Amino acid sequence: MEIKIVKNILAANETIAQENKNLFQKNNVFVINIMSAPGAGKTSLIEKTIEKLKNRYRIAVIEGDIATSLDAEKLSKYGIPVTQINTEPFGGDCHLDANMIKNALTSLDLSEIDLLLIENIGNLVCPAEFYLGENKKVMLLSVTEGEDKPLKYPLMFRLANLLVVSKTDLLEQAGTNLDKLKKSVLQVNPTLKSIFLSVKTGQGMEQWYTWLTEVIQPYRI
Ligand code: MG
Ligand code: ZN
Repeated sequence: MEIKIVKNILAANETIAQENKNLFQKNNVFVINIMSAPGAGKTSLIEKTIEKLKNRYRIAVIEGDIATSLDAEKLSKYGIPVTQINTEPFGGDCHLDANMIKNALTSLDLSEIDLLLIENIGNLVCPAEFYLGENKKVMLLSVTEGEDKPLKYPLMFRLANLLVVSKTDLLEQAGTNLDKLKKSVLQVNPTLKSIFLSVKTGQGMEQWYTWLTEVIQPYRI
């Protein structure tokens, strides 16, 4: 019985996600769903990305958090459209779903946007289960999270189009074995591309911008 209910919820989500996707396509908006555990550096990566690419693309952000608009406030200085979704009034959901995005879109003018970055709620589990209508899923894993996360939380690693291994400046302190990490990533998803970067030192950031501009390009003629 419970399984059936879960299936129905996901089916309803899928329908709305398709509507979102159609709307994005119609308006030529490229959408990235950014997922990770709390504290992996999603907001910092988004900030750097805006700084680097705001002259090339008209960027907007949807910020998902259970409570507070702290991350959205951080982004307000860039003068781009930022919409906050707080899930606390709706039971404190630990993920974004397609309906929340649909509602958030009413406050964004899609005809004025080229690239929409969705910062999902910090959680390694259920954000992966809810398609929002995005073009690509990017997941972040901080080196401080250790080597075994892909094995413990395989779904997100399986569905991600790109893995960003963040905070490489902390590698030595964290004592994480990168080879072991790479091995467990490939065990779960043999074709997953990884980029290792540090927002703080800038190491690996060019690879991120290159990946991003290359995935956006075929969609925008
Ligand atoms: Mg954040
Ligand atoms: Zn959840």
